[in-house]
Amino acid sequence: MTADLKLNIKFIKNNNIDVIIADEVLNIWRKYQQVDIKDNEACGILIGGYNEKQNKIFIDLCTEPQKSDLRKRTFFTLKDPFHQKRVNDIFISSQQTQFYLGTWHSHPENYPSPSGIDLQDWKKCIKRNSQNKFMVFAIIGLKETFIKVYEVGKKQYDNTN
Ligand SMILES: [Zn+2]
Repeated sequence: MTADLKLNIKFIKNNNIDVIIADEVLNIWRKYQQVDIKDNEACGILIGGYNEKQNKIFIDLCTEPQKSDLRKRTFFTLKDPFHQKRVNDIFISSQQTQFYLGTWHSHPENYPSPSGIDLQDWKKCIKRNSQNKFMVFAIIGLKETFIKVYEVGKKQYDNTN
């Protein structure tokens, strides 16, 4: 049984910005929900852009787990060079309108929330991408998808949940 992610997204935002998620991305997320007890965590990169006038963030694409990624039941590491290469390729082919927005990963729980490790990881990721205006992180659960939007440069790292 697969939950309908489209109807069950919980957004944690710091302002009124809308997050528009492409069907292609939702379909990939559905594919990696940890429905079976043996399913490992899945992870990937979110790629897209934003329109500041319209106050909208677009998640247009995401990468899927690759061979060299480390995947366990409650743990993952993005190791495969494919993810960064895909971001670089799209950045160039989109004439810099689509870029690295953040990451997604799955959790084997109904209503996911970020672990301490997730929060540390996101914080590092934001530091590495200080040229971004926004960053987005998603956790795919079984009944709900948790999406956190950060406005880069603002202190807001410790108030998740
Ligand atoms: Zn996690």
